[in-house]
Amino acid sequence: MSTKHDHDHDHDHSPHTAGPDPRTIKHHTQEQTQALEERVKKIEALLVAKGLVNPAALDKMVDTYEHDLGPMNGAKVVARAWTDPAYKKRLLADATAAIAELGFGGLQDEHLVVVENTPKVHNVIVCTLCSCYPWPVLGLPPTWFKSAPYRSRVVIDPRGVLKEFGTEIDAKVEIRVWDSSAELRYMVLPERPAGTEHLSEEELAQRVSRDAMIGVVRQT
Ligand code: FE
Repeated sequence: MSTKHDHDHDHDHSPHTAGPDPRTIKHHTQEQTQALEERVKKIEALLVAKGLVNPAALDKMVDTYEHDLGPMNGAKVVARAWTDPAYKKRLLADATAAIAELGFGGLQDEHLVVVENTPKVHNVIVCTLCSCYPWPVLGLPPTWFKSAPYRSRVVIDPRGVLKEFGTEIDAKVEIRVWDSSAELRYMVLPERPAGTEHLSEEELAQRVSRDAMIGVVRQT
């Protein structure tokens, strides 16, 4: 087994540096969550009152998270790559541009990288430091993705962690773990399952699972 832990990039987490170290954050109690929500509401009201924030822009942001973002975007990217070899080539060469072709992206300046699963290589993504995640294609991260055990253990024992997701990876298959950051975020291009040759791009997109694009399960 070999683990590719790509750390060439600067793991700069500027959006998070103002807060506490994410590795020491414990789960909030309901009371703490309520207090936080109230605090956010007050800050928001203050920013709007001072004219520092446009409420319409805030609404647009919330709307984006509710309606335009989610794993269905990534699923469309995967289905296009499975059915259009030229698109797949562009996707693997420059994912940010290829994903923008389908109208996704532009939330931040983050760079998206798509890594391809093959019979010889299985990829899985993580953010070891906090919870960086490819929002434009996968939406908001699941809770377990942000959990300390996943973040630390998938790097040390990817095969064991994948087993907990019910995913057995053959010993002959190399597992690569990709560590996301604020600037560089990964998505997995799963292998197209056998027996799906008759499916249309749209039907394929409905089938692609979020967890397969994170790499903790194999696409079925
Ligand atoms: Fe992060």
